[in-house]
Amino acid sequence: MFFTSKIKETEHMEHVFDITVIGGGPVGMFTAFYAGLRNADVHLIESLPELGGQTGALYPEKEIYDVAGFPHIKGKLLVQQLESQMRAFDPQITLDTAVTNIAQAGDQFKITTSKATYYSKSVIIAIGNGAFAPRKLAFDYDSRLDHHQVDYFVHDLDDYKDLDVAIAGGGDSAVDWALTLNDIAKSVTIIHRRDKFRGLESSVKQLMTSNINVKTPFLLEGLGLDDGKLKIDLKKMKSDDHDALLVDKLLVNYGFTSDSRILRQWAIDLQGTDVLVDNHMQTSRPLIYSVGDSAYYNGKVKLIASGFGEVPTAVNHALETIYPERKQPLHSTSLFN
Ligand SMILES: Cc1cc2nc3c(=O)[nH]c(=O)nc-3n(C[C@H](O)[C@H](O)[C@H](O)COP(=O)(O)OP(=O)(O)OC[C@H]3O[C@@H](n4cnc5c(N)ncnc54)[C@H](O)[C@@H]3O)c2cc1C
Repeated sequence: MFFTSKIKETEHMEHVFDITVIGGGPVGMFTAFYAGLRNADVHLIESLPELGGQTGALYPEKEIYDVAGFPHIKGKLLVQQLESQMRAFDPQITLDTAVTNIAQAGDQFKITTSKATYYSKSVIIAIGNGAFAPRKLAFDYDSRLDHHQVDYFVHDLDDYKDLDVAIAGGGDSAVDWALTLNDIAKSVTIIHRRDKFRGLESSVKQLMTSNINVKTPFLLEGLGLDDGKLKIDLKKMKSDDHDALLVDKLLVNYGFTSDSRILRQWAIDLQGTDVLVDNHMQTSRPLIYSVGDSAYYNGKVKLIASGFGEVPTAVNHALETIYPERKQPLHSTSLFN
């Protein structure tokens, strides 16, 4: 077998990994896989308790149509496949742990996290847009409704089965959820403050010709409980008209905010809030790389497919720099045979 001399267990903080991947989104997981494939000793650190990044946390049930080799694949299935591909090489995976600093320690990096300190010969930053959170409703309401009657993420479609569901939002995601839940819920109402939706034209057309109740242009003003049902107070835009809707659940789809301010403390050059990289995906600090949504170069497109493409460039350059004498075959077929 190709992997014989790898040290798998970190028994001491002095253990020095070849590559530490920061972020366990789709691109971070593919990085850990590919580095394993190249026989590297890999550590992946993820701040959330689960792997999957935006795909796993924000749109697990959405169909993705632009990942090569899959005509379409659900977000959560792509995450499962990436995880199983990555785990074949048994990388060290540390979850629920945020990286807070990367400091030079001789020819190594000292990586400080919310829980412990680790060492590595190189670092690949795959933190996407940083720690992300859903944009909340703009008014105060009883926070005990969250996770019961007010959702910001869809974790399981069965949670909506045979229920009266309202969806707030007018973007791609809100339209996709309305169409998806229409096959599962008893009724679906989509509420948007404008008359026009920003989704894909074909999806918007499907929405407008479906039996989904389209409530526009209305603004959500308040939430309360009415005999066990969720009462949503609505106000018609540019008018004094008010309305109310009784549903079992409200799914809010106002997009997400992300926070990548931590990057400012890592002494690397940034382009806005993203990490500036060269054509090896290397940052302004040698042996620190960035891939996926966190990386910026001229012409960058923030998609899973582009992130995957950046990974071999970063990993191979890191390993060639750390082990200039080590030559490995480039094609995975020659590694597995
Ligand atoms: C609603 C929606 C729909 C989308 N649809 C598509 C689509 O159809 N096709 C497509 O190609 N792309 C789509 N995208 C974009 C796609 O999800 C991203 O391009 C992709 O997730 C980028 O992967 P990543 O691994 O670079 O970053 P992310 O997925 O953002 O993962 C980054 C990970 O890093 C972790 N992290 C952040 N800070 C730290 C830290 N300090 N320490 C440790 N861990 C940290 C985060 O918790 C996160 O898990 C969509 C995005 C959204 C929001």
